Amino acid sequence: MAPNEKINAKAVLFDYDDTIMDVSDARNYARHVIAKELSLITDLSQEHILRIIKDVETWMESIGQFDRRVWFKEVAKALGIEIGIDEVNRLVRAYWDSWRLKSRLFPDVIPTLNELRRCGLKLGIVTNTDGEPGLKRDRIRSDGVGYLFDVIVVAGDDTKHVKPHPEPFTRALQILNMRGGDEVIYIGDRISTDVPGGAKAAGMYAGIIDRYYNIIDTGVHGHGDLS
Ligand SMILES: [Mg+2]
Repeated sequence: MAPNEKINAKAVLFDYDDTIMDVSDARNYARHVIAKELSLITDLSQEHILRIIKDVETWMESIGQFDRRVWFKEVAKALGIEIGIDEVNRLVRAYWDSWRLKSRLFPDVIPTLNELRRCGLKLGIVTNTDGEPGLKRDRIRSDGVGYLFDVIVVAGDDTKHVKPHPEPFTRALQILNMRGGDEVIYIGDRISTDVPGGAKAAGMYAGIIDRYYNIIDTGVHGHGDLS
């Protein structure tokens, strides 16, 4: 987009975690809870288990695998321990309970969404699945923000492909009955999943927001808030 180019947008779509919801504490806390649980059944230190969890998390996210059952089976394998399916399920419940406990809405979200709504824009979420059908949508509902959006697409639950595939973005356009192009803007926090292959391929304008003031992977330095 050229500088000073005007966008005649009719809708703004958002990613969820790390864009709408501050989940930095949630992610850390959930990891620690699992590391502590696993440390009770092995001689390994929590620090070592934590490192393995982070490694598996990075690997799983890079291949679009969000099912924590798969994550924790891989963690157990890497630690050289055996855990049964009941234990895996218990860990998954503990993980998401911990995540929900610590995740919170970024304080600028409601004022920004209200302002966009006041300008006549439609609002939506395009987010990836939590790896279990219905879980992410339930999380959005119980976080108390679902009602703020005209469209919510959970990629991997509502579509075959997850982001960065364009399918979930295209699905949102279909529901909104919009064509993309200058009509729709997508805001996410990860260049790798949110921008080139996904939103832009679906014909949307796309922007990156850096909530934690990190230098994002390709060196683009975003803004810290939505306003
Ligand atoms: Mg995100």
